[in-house]
Amino acid sequence: MIALQDIHKSFAGQEVLHGVSVQIAPGQVTALIGPSGSGKSTLLRCVNLLEIPDSGTLTVGSETLRFAPGTRPAHEAVQRIRLQTGMVFQNFQLFAHQSALHNVMEGLVTVKRWSRERARERARALLAKVGLADKADAWPANLSGGQQQRVAIARALAPEPAVLLCDEPTSALDPGLAAEVVAVLSDLAREGMTMLMATHDLRLAAQVASHTVFLEGGAIVESGLSQDLFQHPQDPRTQRFLITLQ
Ligand code: ADP
Ligand code: MG
Repeated sequence: MIALQDIHKSFAGQEVLHGVSVQIAPGQVTALIGPSGSGKSTLLRCVNLLEIPDSGTLTVGSETLRFAPGTRPAHEAVQRIRLQTGMVFQNFQLFAHQSALHNVMEGLVTVKRWSRERARERARALLAKVGLADKADAWPANLSGGQQQRVAIARALAPEPAVLLCDEPTSALDPGLAAEVVAVLSDLAREGMTMLMATHDLRLAAQVASHTVFLEGGAIVESGLSQDLFQHPQDPRTQRFLITLQ
């Protein structure tokens, strides 16, 4: 279970998340939609603690952290949550000087202290899973954007996270390459991977995510089953936003 409860986050005195609560059941995929600047990335970064919330509660699997202004959570607790979250970024963020295989296996060796042999084996299996078995030795620069993003997904999955966080995973890709990435995420969803993904991609939100949360100005306007939210948005702000997406 992933749960955010009343999460507040400010930057330089400016509050950008005004008490956001989201719950994601195991195996559930939730899309996070909303205008640019609405706080989607910040919310994702509060789940893997790239940003520390000012207040509120975060639960990832068996770990629960309560935040309070002026305090920092224990380093060990932060590490435990980070190990349970995988993150995929809009611009892939692969290590440019490493092969696809090394990108996927490196965290297992350096963070999880696996032997190189064991890490290599898992990395090969993950590359096969995202359709890139034959690209293990390729450098990121020689891969298409869609292939790079699939390597990034394999890398994020390597430590078997409890949740996969995706920040606009298809936004940097042409439609054809975006479709490859949607297909991989869709397979993961079918296999029961728990996911939270910020996206402007209607196909990704409507086809892969069972639930959708619409964020505006750092607060949730409306959330529910994707089908309901896309077909029968209740709030005029949701209705207006959905028109801009088509
Ligand atoms: P979205 O992903 O929905 O476009 P963001 O979470 O990136 O929104 O940004 C939400 C708001 O927080 C914006 O006003 C943005 O300028 C601000 N913001 C995000 N990160 C930082 C930061 N590190 N420092 C200052 N302001 C930030
Ligand atoms: Mg963003």
